[in-house]
Amino acid sequence: MIEKIKILKFIKNFELSKRLTLMIILAFTFSFLVRLYWVFWANKYPDLFFWNNELMINTNDGYAFAEGARDRLAGFHQPNDLSYYSFPLSILTAFLAKILPFSFEHILLYMSAFFSSLIVVPILLISAEFRCLRAGFIGALVACVANSYYNRTMVGYYDTDMLNIVLAMFVLWALIRTSVKNDRFCLIYIAFFTTFYNWWYPSSFSLNSAFFGLFVIYTLIWQRKKILNYQALILMLLSLTAILIYIKILLLIALIWLFFKKANLFEIRKNLAITAGIVVLLFIICGGLTPILFQLKFYIFRSVADNSEITYRFFNVNQTIQESGFVSNEIFAKRISSSVIVFLCGLVGYFLLCFRHKEFLLSLPMLALGFMAYKAGLRFTIYAVPIMAFSFAYLSYYLVKISKLPKFLGRLILLFVTIMALYPALNHIKNYLPGSVFYKSEVEILDKFKSIAEREDYTLAWWDYGYPIRYYADTKTLIDGGKHLGNDNFPVSFALTKDQTSAANMARIDVEYTELSYKERYGEKFTKILKDYNYKPNEINEFLLSLRSKIFMPPPARRDIYFYLPDRMMSIFNIVAKFSNLDLLDGHNFAEPFFYIGGNYGINEKGMNLGENIYLSNDLLSVELNGTKVRINSFYKTKYENGKLAVERINIDNSSPLFVVVMSDYDRILILDEKAFNSAYIQLFVLENFDRDLYEPVILSPVAKIFKLKR
Ligand code: MG
Repeated sequence: MIEKIKILKFIKNFELSKRLTLMIILAFTFSFLVRLYWVFWANKYPDLFFWNNELMINTNDGYAFAEGARDRLAGFHQPNDLSYYSFPLSILTAFLAKILPFSFEHILLYMSAFFSSLIVVPILLISAEFRCLRAGFIGALVACVANSYYNRTMVGYYDTDMLNIVLAMFVLWALIRTSVKNDRFCLIYIAFFTTFYNWWYPSSFSLNSAFFGLFVIYTLIWQRKKILNYQALILMLLSLTAILIYIKILLLIALIWLFFKKANLFEIRKNLAITAGIVVLLFIICGGLTPILFQLKFYIFRSVADNSEITYRFFNVNQTIQESGFVSNEIFAKRISSSVIVFLCGLVGYFLLCFRHKEFLLSLPMLALGFMAYKAGLRFTIYAVPIMAFSFAYLSYYLVKISKLPKFLGRLILLFVTIMALYPALNHIKNYLPGSVFYKSEVEILDKFKSIAEREDYTLAWWDYGYPIRYYADTKTLIDGGKHLGNDNFPVSFALTKDQTSAANMARIDVEYTELSYKERYGEKFTKILKDYNYKPNEINEFLLSLRSKIFMPPPARRDIYFYLPDRMMSIFNIVAKFSNLDLLDGHNFAEPFFYIGGNYGINEKGMNLGENIYLSNDLLSVELNGTKVRINSFYKTKYENGKLAVERINIDNSSPLFVVVMSDYDRILILDEKAFNSAYIQLFVLENFDRDLYEPVILSPVAKIFKLKR
């Protein structure tokens, strides 16, 4: 009799795992194939998006990991080059590049699509625990293509996001399985996935801590007697402890071995409590509570200033991002579930699911993190995606199940519901078509530049171009996608938007003092610079003015510096200028330079319409700004002739503050005041009017220009 039951159970489990495997393969294939649509679209533009016969990635931050992986494969990198040499994604990429037969670029491009599609696995595994595979299958399909999940895991979105949600879901599955079953293998799953997640993405600490806390509460309420839960909690806490990863893995293996082989030892409560005590102690000693204490301190002692030294008031990046303040309900719902109806059904489904399977309450931290998007920004929505997708699928599945329809009809309805839920998501995918970060023509320039510059040289460029420059040209940079605080940006903004002499002096100062800061640890860079130049800390404005003079003695040059001036920076010139156009002593902005990019929007009696109520008079002598006529100082016209830039200049009124530059090849007309006109960017990039004592042209292309500093 018992034998018979065992065999039946085995057959049932075998059937289940066979169906589970099939569904995983199907859902995974769907997720991956759908992501190829972008590749199919981008393939039509080989002259824009291709480099080295491969499509380029479409996320700026990806180049940081790409640089790290490239350096790992090479086996070296330069000291203080900010390379992401030791980041998990770089390590994984380099490893894959070594063992797989694909090209490096190919791996960068497809990694996100492959790993993110694994999201279907934990969703289906959870549904298997709840014995509702069909709901899991529908949930997996809906989740893998949901708007925000797709945007952040599409082909070419080479970033840590590719595994962030997948790993969170695996941790959730392991917790659910622990509470549903008495399966000791869950201990291995929990230890493995928590450790992996914590290593892969250290910021996951908060989410993992929330999982941990909730599982403590869950155990105390419903499964107080279940030893497996306590063992799982001990392993989870150890996985989150900040110790060397190798030591952690050894300790975890040792503990799991003990839990398996000496099971009866831990039947005794005292032994379990002692083990837990040791792990908690280790966790605290290694600073496990610091993040929590830090938060508390931040909230409680917010008003206490930390030092009395003079502090300069820099302009920060978050001040340029427009505070939307509020996210519309519709956008929020669509980001999570691709459509409002699916989202609402998901909410109902979530309550139903938690009611029917209370273990699903353990998903609350992910849902809460996703809903935090309401306050903290849309980037968090992806955490709610798989939870809501599965909840939606469960509601549909449950309603069909209880309505006791004929089998065939029930399946037909579920198929229909699935198609309806997928339609808006697929539509989004069809229309969401970002280009590569850089165009082929820009990469060509950086590739050529790579053979000119040394690895220890610096390229001065705005932070948006930092990572791609380091990847394609392999020089050092001052700022990038991860290093762009107000004080980092100030000198670079200064060098790009002030006059040529100030720019040259500032570039040399910033590069040499940046390198020096790695050797001598000093606090604020400008405090140190001012001291070295015999200025008092409150004389920063006087010091900055002194840079205008060629007599100024910058620190001796120990490496070369190149200015990278791309055409694409023109549209953000005003933002770049903001970072250095302020009084560092009180944070007040100086008057903004006037910089306007116009086009020809037709000619009438007022003259040529340049947009924004600005007209260029037909006699080319004046410009009308909001109804006020201003005479032009000088009129410039640039045009490429046989690959060389020719500049024509007509002087009109030397007393006037306004300059007009017609960039004929770009269909663009610039209206500038003296400040903007004299900026290094305009003089060097637009007019190629460089001071021969200070700069030497290296690459002059209409797309981007590179100058070597001679100071
Ligand atoms: Mg390097």
